[in-house]
This record gives sequence, C-alpha cells and structure tokens, in this order.
Amino acid sequence: MLKIFNTLTRQKEVFKPIHPNKVSLYVCGVTVYDYCHIGHARTYVSADIVIRYLRWLGYEVNYVRNITDIDDKIIKRANENNEDVTAVTKRFTQAMHEDFASLNLIPPNHEPRATKYIPQMITLIEKIIANGCGYVASNGDVYFDVRRFPDYGCLSHHDIEQLESGARVEVVEVKRDPLDFVLWKLAKPGEPSWDSPWGKGRPGWHIECSAMAIELLGEHFDIHGGGRDLMFPHHENEIAQSQAATQQKFANLWIHGGFLQIGKEKMSKSLGNFVTIRDVLKEYEPEVLRYLLLASHYRSELIYTSDILIQSRQALTRFYTALRFLPNAERVTNTDFEKQFTAAMDDDFNTPVALSVLFELAHEVQRLREKDLQSAAAHGELLRYLGEALGILQADPELFLKSGVTVDAAQIEALITARNQARKEKNWSEADRIRDELTKLQIAIEDGANGTTWKYMGK
Ligand code: AMP
Ligand code: ZN
Repeated sequence: MLKIFNTLTRQKEVFKPIHPNKVSLYVCGVTVYDYCHIGHARTYVSADIVIRYLRWLGYEVNYVRNITDIDDKIIKRANENNEDVTAVTKRFTQAMHEDFASLNLIPPNHEPRATKYIPQMITLIEKIIANGCGYVASNGDVYFDVRRFPDYGCLSHHDIEQLESGARVEVVEVKRDPLDFVLWKLAKPGEPSWDSPWGKGRPGWHIECSAMAIELLGEHFDIHGGGRDLMFPHHENEIAQSQAATQQKFANLWIHGGFLQIGKEKMSKSLGNFVTIRDVLKEYEPEVLRYLLLASHYRSELIYTSDILIQSRQALTRFYTALRFLPNAERVTNTDFEKQFTAAMDDDFNTPVALSVLFELAHEVQRLREKDLQSAAAHGELLRYLGEALGILQADPELFLKSGVTVDAAQIEALITARNQARKEKNWSEADRIRDELTKLQIAIEDGANGTTWKYMGK
C-alpha cells in the first residue's frame, strides 16, 4: 500500500488515483537560460523515482514536465548575450535534454513549452476575471485578486495576514493587495509579446503551469510536484488561479522535494554556488550522481560535498562487485528482500532504506557465491530487478568497475601480466611490488577462476 506525503494535508496518505490504475502527474520544469546544476538533478531524479516506482507497481503514468521558455531571467540573459530569446532557450533546452538523458531520467509523456500555450493562458485569465478573481490594474497589467480567493494559503499553510507580514512581497502601488500576483504583463519595448484582450504582452510565470496542466491533464488531476521553493508563491498561486477559473479542485496531491545545499545554502544559479550536471559527469559515471541523490530521502535537505560523490562511487563498486562474474539465472521470487524493499518504497519513497535492503541483498550474493553459484546468480538477478525501480545497477559490472580510471587500461594490463610472470617465476617480492604499485593507482586486483581481474576503487 503506497503512502505519499501530501503537502496539502501535511500527512502521509494512502495513494488513490482518480481513475483506477492511471496516474496524471505534473512536475514544474526548468527555466531554460543556463546549464542545469545538480540541485535541478535532485528534483528531477526525485520525480523520476516517483514515476518509475508508480510504473513498477503497474500504474499507467501520464507525466507532464514543462519548459519555461519565456521569463524575465531569459530575456535578461538574451540581452546580455546580444542574442534572440529563442536562441538562448533552444540551446539550453538541448543541453538540458542531453544532461537528463545521461542521468537516465524517464522522458515526460508531454513536454509543453510555455510559449506554445498562450491562447490557453488567455482563456484561463478571462475565466478568472469573469469569476471575479482578477482585475486590470491602472498600469494595464492583469492581477489575481487574492482577497477574493478564500483558500489562499491552503498549500503553504499560512493565512493571508501571516503571509503578508512574513513574506517579502513586492509592494506595487497598482495592486489591491501586496500578495496579488501578475497574470498578464503589458510588453515593454523590445520584449517578446503576444496579442491579448488586454493588449500586447506576456503571461506571468504562474499562469503558465496552470494552463499547461489543465490542457494536458484536465482540470482535476492526481499529483503535482516540484522543489520546495516552488510551494510558495508558485504552487499556491497555481492552485488559486486554477481553482478560481474552474471552480473545482486542481491537483489532489502535492509533492515537494528538499533542497540540495552547499553548506546552509540552497544551490542556485543566482547565488553562484552551483556545480553543473556536466561538470560532475566529466569525472563520474551518471549513475554515481543518481546514487548520491537516492541516498537521502527526497524530502530531507541534502548537503553536497565532493566526498559524498567519492562515497557514492564506492557504494556502487560494492554492488557491481557482487554482480560481477555471475552465470545466467532466473531471479528468486518471494524473498524478504523484495518485501522489505517494497515496504520502504511504499513508505513515501524511502530510498535510503530501500538501498540498505539492496546492500543486504548484495551481501547475500557474495555469501552465496562461495557455496552455491546458481543461487548467488538468482539473487543477483533480484538485485538488478529491484535496482531497476531506482534506475540503478543496470550497467555491465565490468564497464562500471573500470569507469573513471585515470590510468591507461593497457598499462594496468601490462602490470598485471608482469606480476603473473613474476609469480610464475616464484619471484614473490617482485609480484608484491607490482601489486603495491597497482594499489597506489587505486586498482584492486583479484585472482580467481576468471584469471586476474581488476577494478578501479575510485579517488
Ligand atoms: P528553476 O529552473 O530554477 O525554475 O528550477 C527548476 C526546478 O529545480 C524547481 O522545481 C526547483 O525547485 C528545482 N531546484 C532548483 N534548485 C534546486 C536545489 N538546489 N535543490 C533542489 N531542487 C532545486
Ligand atoms: Zn510550475
């Protein structure tokens, strides 16, 4: 029985989709004006786990992840670069696709771009105004009137008065209330713009997601997610706009992930404390980064250091060492390992506990290897099968164990050949000297049925 923590109710709830066996899910996508950093990777790997696990349980998941391709930050970047807005968004959309494919993220079923949904946004704004929750301000911009939406604050669990005193809301004189937010802004010279009943302009950020979610998933759907920073105001505003327009509940369940931090601070482009996904992948297999992210529960904060990358590779080395040199076998079924793994994942996608079950299973594979190779292999198959629900352990063990090595493989092979020759000649001191040399290079060797094999132990 899958339970998911719902930000709306602040409780773990038994998951029950609107339509049996089908799940509709919307995740806010990237604003494409720069390379994605590993904070983004955290949010989208978390979303990937939700989708993978729901599919693994047999649900048909309709996953929508948008692209924000119009925004102040994009316009600013295009001006700085002396480039077209579309040139900037195209380049960084492509870079995002490359990074996400490396990370083995399941592609969304739909990937709407905000600029392709302007008519839907306009229709939504018209409905909001018709229902008395929107107004045209004296400067011509259209605003949402939060005081006309009694449920405002239902997601972030604050009432309007608290939000006003606590939040650093932008005071703009033309607004009726400081918390009112823009639905449509009139164009400034040189900015991209679209025709609308309120004049040439562009949509506010929040309305994008409401319009795309409603168009692709319907007015009422199952799950909406994103990083915790989006809870207020972005998601609070999405709920207000959507429900003001449709007069019915928007998403049933809201999932928010914790931040990836550097020390006490959120990793972010604006703070400049970011490490891009591509930077990490220059040195490590993408699976190492995925593992690092799964080793913490998605709702907790995760403090990034380069040490945890090293530890994550070491953890995967243990798994792949267990999976190495196993004959073909059918996976064992009905084991406690599988039950414990499912119980962990059913408990709000508790990946750290699920990984600890996989560790025990890897240990069991190694224990069985000595006495019953077929049984070890059958457990190895189970390990791969459960790993698939997390998007890990699908690589060829040989390739993984030799990945990231900085020394030429031919040089390693030559040293191994020289050592074996020394052993043949019973020159033990020379054989040991060569082994030490390999150890210094972080290469571990093993003599076994398959001859002498090696693996890279990481930095
Ligand atoms: P942005 O492109 O900045 O709008 O962010 C896209 C998504 O990445 C949002 O869901 C953010 O919450 C998420 N995100 C950005 N930075 C981080 C971070 N440091 N940790 C976790 N999620 C993040
Ligand atoms: Zn959004």
